[in-house]
Amino acid sequence: MDNIRGILIGRMQPVHNGHLQIIDRILEEVDEIIIGIGSAQISHELKDPFTAGERIVMMSQALAEMHIDPKRYYIIPMEDINFNAIWPSHVKMMTPPFSVVYSGNPLVKQLFAEEGFEVRQPPLYDRLHLSGTEVRRRILKDENWQELVPKATADVISEINGIERLKNLSEKEISDI
Ligand code: NAD
Repeated sequence: MDNIRGILIGRMQPVHNGHLQIIDRILEEVDEIIIGIGSAQISHELKDPFTAGERIVMMSQALAEMHIDPKRYYIIPMEDINFNAIWPSHVKMMTPPFSVVYSGNPLVKQLFAEEGFEVRQPPLYDRLHLSGTEVRRRILKDENWQELVPKATADVISEINGIERLKNLSEKEISDI
């Protein structure tokens, strides 16, 4: 029988423990998962500070730390396009074939459901704390953000001077107002 393949697309700015818990859970339901690194063209913005490449390293090293078989996942950068109605076709063109879409994002769910895909809403784990917004907020406030992310994300942020990058972006956006 063919493998069942699911897809999860997220900005992952940065990769946090909620993403990893949901990937672990999805792998109980499907044979393989496609992890789309969304808005791949955007970086160096306060809401999107990390490049697609940096997010790919965070994700691949975190999955290695979790000892997930690399044959079971694909990590693919996914640029946004201007046309929501044809975005699912764009995603299909860039990825291995898949039949199940996992998302908590209402627009993503709607666009793929309209294309006839099975859409599953994964449970949210500790959404109050496990969100990219909260990780970025804590980094800017010098609070404990490391407890919300895998070691791989903390390592990448340290290697690229990510704390300094975020703080500079914060100052820039205030001065742009
Ligand atoms: P995100 O990183 O916030 O979340 C990704 C997924 O991770 C969510 O759907 C959710 O299921 C899961 N998740 C997050 N926190 C979790 C937690 N605490 N517990 C469990 N699961 C958790 O990303 P997003 O905003 O949903 O990303 C959607 C991407 O799709 C964006 O990059 C967006 O630009 C892109 N998109 C593009 C177009 C277009 O190009 N026209 C249209 C729609 C969406």
